[in-house]
Amino acid sequence: MGADRPLAGRAALVTGSTSGIGLALAEALAGAGAAVMLNGLGNAEEIEQTRQRLAQEHDVPVYFDGADMTRPGEIADLVARTHDAFGRLDVLVPNAGIQHVAPVEDFPVEKWDAIVAVNLSSAFHLIRAAVPLMKARRHGRIVNMASAHALVASPFKSAYVAAKHGLAGLTKTVALEVAEHGITCNAICPGYVKTPLVEAQIAPTARARGLSEEEVVRTVMLAAQPTRRFVTCAELAGLLLYLVSPQGASVNGAMLPVDGGWTAQ
Ligand code: NAD
Repeated sequence: MGADRPLAGRAALVTGSTSGIGLALAEALAGAGAAVMLNGLGNAEEIEQTRQRLAQEHDVPVYFDGADMTRPGEIADLVARTHDAFGRLDVLVPNAGIQHVAPVEDFPVEKWDAIVAVNLSSAFHLIRAAVPLMKARRHGRIVNMASAHALVASPFKSAYVAAKHGLAGLTKTVALEVAEHGITCNAICPGYVKTPLVEAQIAPTARARGLSEEEVVRTVMLAAQPTRRFVTCAELAGLLLYLVSPQGASVNGAMLPVDGGWTAQ
């Protein structure tokens, strides 16, 4: 196991890794030598190109499975297929997430249900299926992709904030249950990262608040972030690689803000 490939021989599953943060985290894990199972929605040809690029550039097995994170049966099958493909599952990153911005009284019921399913319940179904596999090897790292919105609220995001606060509770509870089994369970809590998910919020937030799109970026999104710049995927990947390393073994049940100081206020 070389210093530049600390995860050689390990296997990782990152949900929602066809785009944005999840793709960056999957690439970081592959770069550290892990075999990776990609998951997410999107154009099949583009996903296949991404899969091939990661496998070739990093010289690791990379597979893709399109399991829908709103379907518990597909989620359990995804974990089983990952284990079948690689013979192990060391790193689980429940990352898939969706957003909808609207005042609570207008919030579409089906959007609430979908956000809770993808952003919270899918993590439960993934963890439920993965923990027995990790316990059997006495090794595992679960890193939930939460949000600054797991720690504080913003208006017009009732479902997202509720789901991410729920994910905080799940993270802490699982951490206590697995602590003596060589497994840790933590959550990364990013501030704003400029991904397709955030870009898609700019126009609806502008409508909901009666602001221009430029004002939303400056006075709503980055107003909360004292650094006044977007968090980068590389900054999140650095924390993930620490959490999955041997040095991260005593970090357990932690909600780790990477938000430029947002939640310090
Ligand atoms: P993104 O829209 O770029 O990526 C979301 C991923 O989830 C995509 O791969 C998409 O295909 C996948 N996905 C969505 N619905 C799915 C479903 N039903 N089944 C399977 N996959 C599904 O968004 P992102 O910004 O990279 O967000 C990734 C995670 O980071 C989310 O959990 C999000 O809440 C969290 N987060 C993002 C930010 C930010 O500012 N971008 C901040 C804090 C937390």
